[in-house]
Amino acid sequence: MSRRRLDSRSGLSAGLLGETQTPISSEPLESAYEVTGELGRGKFAVVKRCMEKTTGKVFAAKFLRKRRRGRDCRAEVIHEMAVLEMARNNPRVVNLYGAHETDHDVVLVLEYAAGGEIFDHCVSEELLPEAQITRLIRQTLEGVHHLHQSNLVHLDLKPQNILLTSLAPPGDIKIVDFGLARRLGTAGELREILGTPEYVAPEVLNYEPITTATDLWSVGVIAYMLVTGESPFAGDDKQETYLNVSQVNVDYSREAFSRVSELAVDFIRKLLVKAPEDRPSAAECLSHPWLWYQPLCLSPEPVAIRSVRERSCGTKWAAPLEDKENFLDSPHAHAKRSRLDEETSAAGDGDF
Ligand code: ADP
Ligand code: MG
Repeated sequence: MSRRRLDSRSGLSAGLLGETQTPISSEPLESAYEVTGELGRGKFAVVKRCMEKTTGKVFAAKFLRKRRRGRDCRAEVIHEMAVLEMARNNPRVVNLYGAHETDHDVVLVLEYAAGGEIFDHCVSEELLPEAQITRLIRQTLEGVHHLHQSNLVHLDLKPQNILLTSLAPPGDIKIVDFGLARRLGTAGELREILGTPEYVAPEVLNYEPITTATDLWSVGVIAYMLVTGESPFAGDDKQETYLNVSQVNVDYSREAFSRVSELAVDFIRKLLVKAPEDRPSAAECLSHPWLWYQPLCLSPEPVAIRSVRERSCGTKWAAPLEDKENFLDSPHAHAKRSRLDEETSAAGDGDF
């Protein structure tokens, strides 16, 4: 596949939101919060756990560097804040509580998601039971549906950016990391080189228009990873990964899917299709039977992959778990079993 180099500003300036309501304090974060351990980090951000001194409440502070590759990127940081504000009434999106600014950083004070990343459940020896997976995918789709209704696309949905409110039992999901999110329709057609190769849709690699369907591809990848414990497109190197994505080269073998129902395969197959217009919307996905049925012989506890694969669970189905109306109406290898965090974040990388 040919590699494409873009001017680092060509895509990123398009469609950035500039208006925020949250006051940005010029006091250092430490004046009001006790900053404790690190929760995670990316290329331009570090996230730390912090405690508000007056209330004892725990938050996550995302320190976003304003200068990146010798360029002033404050506008991009403000954009991330503005998107979080637009998503404020979306219960599946992490809440923004406040912001501080220093010479180097803008610090976003965010709702703390104590359960960590769903990525950990994709690489664990003990994968989640199918009923837990469908619950998490349902919640992710609710969040995505809500974003799409506001014309927002996330464009960096991956298991590292879907967090849980608690670890055991797994809590509710919270979507984080809106650095690459965009509002559709504000700057004409959106064609940007964004995201992480393993998780991005073919239209992103091919520099074709980006739509809400781009996020649905990523939901398919996340579902695949939670079900199989493997990353569907991860190759031995970036080129192989790109080739796998553009050829939609996916392993649907019985072996990979032996622990779950055939409906899981049907669900994932509907999302991992090359033409964006052939993918179902988030709302359509929410009515897929996989998300509402539960195998009768499911164990309530996480089960070791080996033991599940050895056991025959069959595909008998019980009644739907919950009333789906409530969700849509809510306001709001071991492949690569290592952290494959090569972010090809944003056009600036020019790696495509
Ligand atoms: P980046 O843009 O650098 O990828 P993220 O917003 O994804 O930054 O945060 C990096 C990591 O920090 C996440 O993958 C997660 O592990 C952790 N993290 C981010 N936000 C929170 C939060 N609100 N609560 C707990 N952990 C968080
Ligand atoms: Mg991230």
